[in-house]
Amino acid sequence: MGARDDAAESGVSTRFGSGWISGVFSVALGAIGLGAVLCFHFPSLLTTPSVRGLYPIPYVRALLHLFLVSAFLLGVLSVFLRRGKRLGMSGIALTLIAALLGGSRVPIDGELRNGPFLGLDWFLLNLIAYCAVFVPLEKLFAHDPQQPVFRKHWRTDLAYFFVSGILVQVTTLLTLQPAMVLFSWTARPGIQQWVASQPFVVQFVGILVVADLTQYWVHRAFHAFPRLWRFHQIHHSAEVMDWLAGSRLHLVDVAVTRGLGYVPIYALGFSEAPLFAYVVVVAAQATFIHANVRFDLRPIAWLVATPRFHHWHHAADAAAVDKNFAVHLPVLDKLFGTFHLPRRRWPAVYGLAGAVVVPDGWVRQLFYPFRQR
Ligand SMILES: [Zn+2]
Ligand SMILES: [Zn+2]
Repeated sequence: MGARDDAAESGVSTRFGSGWISGVFSVALGAIGLGAVLCFHFPSLLTTPSVRGLYPIPYVRALLHLFLVSAFLLGVLSVFLRRGKRLGMSGIALTLIAALLGGSRVPIDGELRNGPFLGLDWFLLNLIAYCAVFVPLEKLFAHDPQQPVFRKHWRTDLAYFFVSGILVQVTTLLTLQPAMVLFSWTARPGIQQWVASQPFVVQFVGILVVADLTQYWVHRAFHAFPRLWRFHQIHHSAEVMDWLAGSRLHLVDVAVTRGLGYVPIYALGFSEAPLFAYVVVVAAQATFIHANVRFDLRPIAWLVATPRFHHWHHAADAAAVDKNFAVHLPVLDKLFGTFHLPRRRWPAVYGLAGAVVVPDGWVRQLFYPFRQR
C-alpha cells in the first residue's frame, strides 16, 4: 500500500490531481468493502455478537455497494492519473475480489452462534468512525500542519488498532474476568444497591473519577517499576503523535491497566448503562489526547485532559519524564504532584529519551519486553 512518507521519499507526488488521493481512497474503501463481505460470509466468526442485532442490514448493503463502486471508480481514476499504477491496481483488485465473493448482495452464511469470534466488524466500524472524525479534525486544527496522515510508523500503529478491534472478545474478558473471579469478596450488596440506584449522570461521573484514579496509579506504577516499564515503554516509543498513536499499547499493558481499572468499578456495583457510556467516552478521549490537534481548552485545562497535556506525557524532555499520568482529569496530577504543562508550549521531540531503541513492527514489539534483561 502506498504511503505519503514512502511516496515523498521516492519523489512521487502526493498532490491533488496526481492520482495519489484517489488511489489511497480506492485501496481504503476496497479493503473495508472486502472486510465487510467477509463478515457476511462468516458472521459467527467475524462479527461481534452484541453489535450483530443492531445492524440495519439493507442500509449496510447499500453502503457496501457505494463503497465498492467508489473504490473501483477511484482506482480507475488513479490508474489514469498516476505513472505508478500500484495504488490504483491494488484498489481495483480488492474491489474485484469483494465482488467475486458476492459484493453487496452476498448472502449471510450459516446460523449465528455465540462462541469465540474475531471482531472484524468492530475494527471496521471503529476505523470508519475514527477516520471520519479525526482525520478532518487533524487537517483543520492541526498542532503540526506539516505532519502527513501517513506519517512515520503508521503501519505499526494501524496494526495495533486492527488487533485491538479483532481481539475485542479477549480484551473484554481480560478486563472483566479477573475482577469477578479474584475480587468478588470486595462486593458489599448494600453499597452496590446504593450506587446502582443513583441517577445516570452521577454514576457516569463516579465511574470517570474512580476509573481515572485507579488508572493514574496503575499508569504511574508502569513508569516506576522496571518490570512493568518494559511493557509500557512500547506506548512511549511513538515518535509521532496523532490519533492513531494512542493505539500503540502492549497487550500486557492493556490487560493489566484495564483489568485493575475495572476492579473498583465492579466492587462498587455501577449499573450497565453508565458503564457502557463510560467505555465509549474513555475510548474517544484516549484517542483525542494523542491527536495532532491544537485545542487547548485553557480555562478548563486542569479539569479535562487535552492533547497538549498528554503530548507532554510523551515528550522526550527530561523535565517532562514521569508527568501527566491522568487520562481524563489533570487535577489528579496536580493533587499528586506530577502536573507539567508549560504555558502555550508543546514538546519539541516525542519518544523515549536516551539510547533505548524499540524495534518497529507489531510482532517485534510484542516480544520485545520479554527479550529484555
Ligand atoms: Zn505513560
Ligand atoms: Zn499516550
